[in-house]
Amino acid sequence: MNPWFESLPSGHRWSSLWYGLVLCGCGAIRKPEVCKVCNGKISSEPVVIEVAPGRFERILPAMMGAEGRYEDYLYLELIEREWKRPVASSAAGLLQNTSISERASVVMLFWTYFEGRIERLVRLGLATVPEALREDVLAKYASVGSRMDRLYKLIFGTTYFNDLRAVGCANMVDFLGEVQARRNEFTHGKPSAINDLLAAQVVRQLRDEHFAWIEVFNHRVKALG
Ligand SMILES: [Zn+2]
Repeated sequence: MNPWFESLPSGHRWSSLWYGLVLCGCGAIRKPEVCKVCNGKISSEPVVIEVAPGRFERILPAMMGAEGRYEDYLYLELIEREWKRPVASSAAGLLQNTSISERASVVMLFWTYFEGRIERLVRLGLATVPEALREDVLAKYASVGSRMDRLYKLIFGTTYFNDLRAVGCANMVDFLGEVQARRNEFTHGKPSAINDLLAAQVVRQLRDEHFAWIEVFNHRVKALG
């Protein structure tokens, strides 16, 4: 089966995974047509408002993008660039005579992007906590592993992997567990743990992982609501 990015409309970058998704008033990430959490509709009909005495203008309702921050777009485009750039094959210095993948950076970028979205989830659960307490907790549980597991359990009573199973995305658990384990091996003295195969798996799973995370995000918004 062809990977998802080969059927993107022409001119669409990988960051287009965020296209057409907006933040609902209830906090969920939704398509404009329907919100699966609150069932609310967003009208795309222009509204007429009086901008000055006797002066009326038709305004399109504004919708907030669903991405957490500008970096969410950036990471997807960086991953795309790293995947598409020609292989250098001119490894020198430390990279000589190693089996480190030419695409190792794809995996590292993906993992940083993933860490950012796990932080967004735990921040969602801590949104009503005083800021100083929130920041202190996040500093204490600084690693993504502890945030997906212990901190997640403290906030939501379960783990991120269990949430993936709960929303029907159990297939993501093995994939993410493997990336996490290999990335840990990489940073603890076994650089060959990240190979070409893992990089290829990451780009193939990127879209499904993106939507699985959104399912969990909405599942949490619903539970908090
Ligand atoms: Zn909603």
